Amino acid sequence: MDERLAKVILESRADLHGGGQYYNAEPCPRCGGHMPYDLKRNLKSLHFDIHICDECSYQEGLAVDEGKPPLPLTSWWAVTEMLNPEE
Ligand SMILES: [Zn+2]
Repeated sequence: MDERLAKVILESRADLHGGGQYYNAEPCPRCGGHMPYDLKRNLKSLHFDIHICDECSYQEGLAVDEGKPPLPLTSWWAVTEMLNPEE
């Protein structure tokens, strides 16, 4: 699994959160947590064209402020979940 493939996986899932339709039941692809219920907020990752939850958005902002690199896509929940569905 490399970063490029992880991006393809995540962007294929990104449709679930975009296109004017918003599925609250779909977990945050970055952490697997709940997505925000306020449709108007429509938070996206600072680094990728993918919607993420409030907490992840906060964490990304914090990392940027601290000059840290973004969490590799290969570490995102949706990617690890796809690779290890039993765990
Ligand atoms: Zn999240």
